[in-house]
Amino acid sequence: MPDRIHVPDDAPLESTEKGVVPYGKKNPFPSPILRGYNLNGPGSEKETYHFELSLEGSGLDYVVGDALGVFPHNPEEQVDEILDSLPFNVNVEVPLPNGGEASLREALITGYDIRSLTPKFLKSWQARSESSGLRSMVESEDRKVMNDFCWGREVIDLVTDYPASFTDGEDFVSVLKKLQPRLYSISSSLNAHPGEVHLTIAIVRYHSHGRQRGGVCSTFFSDRADGIQPGVFVHHNKAFQLVEDNDAPIIMVGPGTGIAPFRAFLEERKLRGAKGNNWLIFGNPHRKTDFLYEEQFDSLQKEGILNRFDLAFSRDQAEKIYVQHRMEENGQDIWSWLEDGATFYVCGDATHMGKDVDAALHRIVERHGGKSEDEARDLVKSLKKEKRYQRDVY
Ligand SMILES: Cc1cc2nc3c(=O)[nH]c(=O)nc-3n(C[C@H](O)[C@H](O)[C@H](O)COP(=O)(O)OP(=O)(O)OC[C@H]3O[C@@H](n4cnc5c(N)ncnc54)[C@H](O)[C@@H]3O)c2cc1C
Repeated sequence: MPDRIHVPDDAPLESTEKGVVPYGKKNPFPSPILRGYNLNGPGSEKETYHFELSLEGSGLDYVVGDALGVFPHNPEEQVDEILDSLPFNVNVEVPLPNGGEASLREALITGYDIRSLTPKFLKSWQARSESSGLRSMVESEDRKVMNDFCWGREVIDLVTDYPASFTDGEDFVSVLKKLQPRLYSISSSLNAHPGEVHLTIAIVRYHSHGRQRGGVCSTFFSDRADGIQPGVFVHHNKAFQLVEDNDAPIIMVGPGTGIAPFRAFLEERKLRGAKGNNWLIFGNPHRKTDFLYEEQFDSLQKEGILNRFDLAFSRDQAEKIYVQHRMEENGQDIWSWLEDGATFYVCGDATHMGKDVDAALHRIVERHGGKSEDEARDLVKSLKKEKRYQRDVY
């Protein structure tokens, strides 16, 4: 079974005024969303969606470990609220960040970032605003104060609370940045799901400065993607790849949405008939509501594909248990698997989990490999160099 499906010579391409170009980041493929559902059970504090998108006819291909780039749309209600508060004729055409023109409304929905504020952005806004509070903050040049102000606020907060005088639509969009695509670790094997790509998306929602807010792309998928074909492209991830050696064991640590690429790895290893052992360590708050892909992993265990499966449900007992605790409890086995040539993968949150798992791995090498702190550091470094320690943390 090839691990990459090559683009056929007659793959459909899109014609643009610059000629015929294949789909990619600069020419994203409008991908129909085939299915989407919440993986968390009722009562969960989390919302994690499984989405299946079609790549049929795109000529796009991917391998497990790759990510999908998605161009989201901003919420229409928020764009309308901005338009209602702007002091000029908003029924105008404006330039789009990538060239061409669209109505101001359309441009704010699909082209510009109306969400993230930065100190630089505050400066250009302040230059057009009469607000003395904003002026003294910008003139202080205190980045911490400006960053604190930006945290939890969006363009709508400036439009309503710190009005600025823009001459017209073109002047308004000139201070905005381009709406950036978001990356998602692909949670399917293309060989198991020809023509499809699956994603596992945690929906970002929070309340700040008197408003209920949501992450642009995650809530785009959960709340407003009906009937829309988002532009997508494949982001090949050379630094996170399933081992080619089908006899080699692999250890995968993926709590929360970090599970995504490992669902793909296991699907791929099953199709390859790989004989190497597969060990998955997954975690989330509660077993009852947050055991993502439980049925599929159960089946993979029964089929003998998932040879070892450890779970860390952090809130199911008085003390919090995370994936790094499961690693340390099973440190002797992790060390033996590494000695047997295992590749160690970790995916998910970079802020806490990625660091905690890395520290646990070092401690395991010290304790069970009988190494000093320096020797453990060198050994982990060499695992990385040999691509036997791969991280996809974000
Ligand atoms: C290689 C890679 C792979 C990834 N894979 C996945 C994946 O498989 N699944 C997945 O779900 N995500 C994944 N991500 C993250 C994903 O790309 C997005 O960053 C995520 O979905 C949030 O995007 P968004 O557009 O919904 O939120 P955004 O609109 O980008 O908003 C997020 C921002 O909101 C702000 N914010 C969040 N909470 C609060 C709060 N409480 N108070 C104030 N401000 C707050 C923060 O500034 C935060 O940066 C991956 C990222 C990378 C780089």
